[in-house]
Amino acid sequence: MSNIIKLLPDHVANQIAAGEVIQRPASVVKELMENAIDAGADDIQLILKDSGKKLIQVVDNGRGMNESDARLAFERHATSKISSGEDLFNIHTMGFRGEALASIAAIAHVELISRQPEEEIGTKILMEGSEVTAQEPFAAVPGTSLSVKNLFYNVPARRKFLKSERVELRRIIQEFERIALGFPDVKFTLFNDDKELLRVHRGSQKDRILGLFGKKLNEKLFPIQEETDFLKLSGFCVKPQFCKKSRKEQFLFLNKRFFKSGYLHHAIKGAYEGLLQPDQNPSYFLFLEMDPGLVDVNVHPTKQEIKFSDERDIYHMIRVTVRHGLGKHQLTPTLDFDVERGQRDIASGQTTGNRPQSGHLGGGGFSAPGPRRDSGGDNWAHIFEGVRKEMTEHPEASQMELEGDLQKEESEYRNFFQVLNRYVVVATNRGLALIDQRAAHEQMLYEEFAESIDRDEGSTQNLLFPKTVEVPASDSAILQEILPTLQKTGFQLEHFGGNTFVIHGVPAIWTKELDPGDMLAEILENYKLKGDFKDSGKRIARSLAGSLRISAVKKLSEKEMKTLIDKVLNRPPSLDLLHKRQLVWLDEEGLAKLFKR
Ligand code: ADP
Ligand code: MG
Repeated sequence: MSNIIKLLPDHVANQIAAGEVIQRPASVVKELMENAIDAGADDIQLILKDSGKKLIQVVDNGRGMNESDARLAFERHATSKISSGEDLFNIHTMGFRGEALASIAAIAHVELISRQPEEEIGTKILMEGSEVTAQEPFAAVPGTSLSVKNLFYNVPARRKFLKSERVELRRIIQEFERIALGFPDVKFTLFNDDKELLRVHRGSQKDRILGLFGKKLNEKLFPIQEETDFLKLSGFCVKPQFCKKSRKEQFLFLNKRFFKSGYLHHAIKGAYEGLLQPDQNPSYFLFLEMDPGLVDVNVHPTKQEIKFSDERDIYHMIRVTVRHGLGKHQLTPTLDFDVERGQRDIASGQTTGNRPQSGHLGGGGFSAPGPRRDSGGDNWAHIFEGVRKEMTEHPEASQMELEGDLQKEESEYRNFFQVLNRYVVVATNRGLALIDQRAAHEQMLYEEFAESIDRDEGSTQNLLFPKTVEVPASDSAILQEILPTLQKTGFQLEHFGGNTFVIHGVPAIWTKELDPGDMLAEILENYKLKGDFKDSGKRIARSLAGSLRISAVKKLSEKEMKTLIDKVLNRPPSLDLLHKRQLVWLDEEGLAKLFKR
């Protein structure tokens, strides 16, 4: 009998890995630019042809590679950035998986030219489908140039799912902006088809923001600054009167690296409470710096999500700091008036104390203003009252509460387990939290899908073999109609003609195990049942969540339990809840009652 298990050839393994890391031209841009930054470059050019479909080239002036490193760089798990498992938790550089170049070389034609500044001559390598086709010494300037041509030339299914040039270019620019924002001391230039689209020079954080988004933004921003033992927070937010309806220009960075967090967005939005219409959104550029050991950035290869070990403290600190920033800066006109009056008073022989001439609230961050608040926007006076009250009642509010919360948090999540294969029980300082696993999982899926649809950034798990399915004629029309939205969730689906569809990939997210064809059928069933939802994005998100949630009775792994607990216990209060009963608390009082104390 012959063996039936075979090892996948390297180039196939690389192609599969590429499916996760490289979803579109913008993913290549991100990987190459991050490598340039890691190489210490301070001048980085991105050169595109046909919006990246023909060529994506990144040229840097970093430390370069020698002949053998240049070759090794394309091996899977080749990285100069980690040598032990431990390093994973302390990494400061951007990429650390050692699979980006190997993945890219599996699905494109690649040319690498590199020279180390201390060497006389450089090296050039050509790659095609994971094979080195040529390597030779090459006269080059110091630094590295990596060109990626004909992306997905050997993966037609991927190529098919590229959107229009305009859309792909927009995504590339978005990626470019995110990296450029994090590194204001690096010069960046972007060309497409020989036209210069963007150029930003080295400067301050603010220079960089204005360089990318226009000088007009200057008057709309106010600064944010706060520091505790474990976290430094700085950046700029947009004043409420300039906030827009779109959700653009919302940037969060951790240690200079862009990340997304619906949870922290909620904290910032919360700080603007009472100042915005319900459909308005604040724009912000917030930079967090903390010990990388406290963060797990390796959560998902493409989604740029981050797991903090003390998310609630960060939530609180951001909310309080932005709120203070708002109170402080919106009152400036009133204070300017105050100063003018003071000067007049001095002229008339009276003094008004030692109020600083600048008209700002003194150096002490949260200190209270002078007596007059009766002129100018009373809305601001009103907010400021709130902030001031908070501050006089708790002079060091942010600091104290953070420390308090930190202690509380420390004992949280320590013990948790599953009972009856149905509920997750967590011991916290408040008491016992009982979580209904299916309801909690469905809610988590709903939030993830709604967000992917909102931002068109769902990630996909590609199928090794595309699956062809036929649906009833009546469903075919519905499916065609919801197809574009479904794709935003990461479902890669193609209408093949008639009632036939081909599934190339499914959302890359923890769901119940289901054959992709059954998955689609269930989603359609669910979608039809949820006809009472006007918002079609929400309707689709609900249908997916309803179809893909785990069973009510299922043994969960420790990691799965933890995922649910983190979601449920950290959820901001006002979210759109599918089931009221996901979480039941047995707190001190509840427990006492049980024992009839
Ligand atoms: P990772 O960045 O996770 O280490 P990559 O596949 O992106 O993995 O890169 C592999 C290795 O190639 C890097 O660790 C680095 O040593 C080298 N490398 C890649 N790009 C550059 C560059 N622009 N300049 C210098 N070295 C580079
Ligand atoms: Mg890398």
